[in-house]
Amino acid sequence: MIVRTKEEREGVIESGKRLGAILEEVAKKVAPGVSTEELDVLALKLIRDGGDEPAFLDYIPEPGMRPYPASLCVSINDEVVHGIPNEAPRVLSEGDIVALDLGLTHKGFISDSAVTVAVGKVKDVDVRLMEATKRALYAGIGAARPGNRVGDISHAIESAYKDTGFSVVKVLGGHGVGTAVHEEPWIGNVGHPGTGPEIVEGMVLALEPIANEGKGAVYLAPDGYTYRTKDGSRSAHFEHTILIEKGKTLVLTRRPREVA
Ligand code: MG
Ligand code: MG
Repeated sequence: MIVRTKEEREGVIESGKRLGAILEEVAKKVAPGVSTEELDVLALKLIRDGGDEPAFLDYIPEPGMRPYPASLCVSINDEVVHGIPNEAPRVLSEGDIVALDLGLTHKGFISDSAVTVAVGKVKDVDVRLMEATKRALYAGIGAARPGNRVGDISHAIESAYKDTGFSVVKVLGGHGVGTAVHEEPWIGNVGHPGTGPEIVEGMVLALEPIANEGKGAVYLAPDGYTYRTKDGSRSAHFEHTILIEKGKTLVLTRRPREVA
């Protein structure tokens, strides 16, 4: 369990602030006719203009995996997470939903955030999926406080989907973050209250509910990164990096115009 010093907290706070602003700019560019590669190029430019580095470019999630080839993950419709925007670029169409996942390194401090946005007009069920997933993220954030356990966050996320008809993706989840993209602890999107590591002041966590309109099963595509739903149903993903502090939990990657 990594507890951050005051200086480290300040570094991650600044990293998250920069990432939130950039992710909002990239999300604003989403429209029919825009390519996934354009979004990736924009994300990289905005990060470098600020003097920072993309945390995902060339990142190797597990030994033996090839380095991730882009700065941004762009996952459209039945793509769940880690869609590669620049190897076989795709053009967004009216009615798509698109998840944008971005990591930023500021002076060695890493933040991680994702948002799912509609491309033009989408179906009501897509809107409900996105709203439920954003609600699940804030339910998880509400449970992320000193004295609780990681299982309380997982349970809060899982419970937020109750009666929605949507399925949580159980094999993907959140994680510690701060000086590496993925740190301890793993934070499942389903779990039992009162279980897992204790949450303490100074922890930096990335919470990221992911859910599908159909069943929760996913598979890894041949590119080695993109997860897709097995039944072809659509998926949504929201993520924030948060800092646990006494009496309050700070959402570090809040987008400037985001409404919680
Ligand atoms: Mg992410
Ligand atoms: Mg993450």
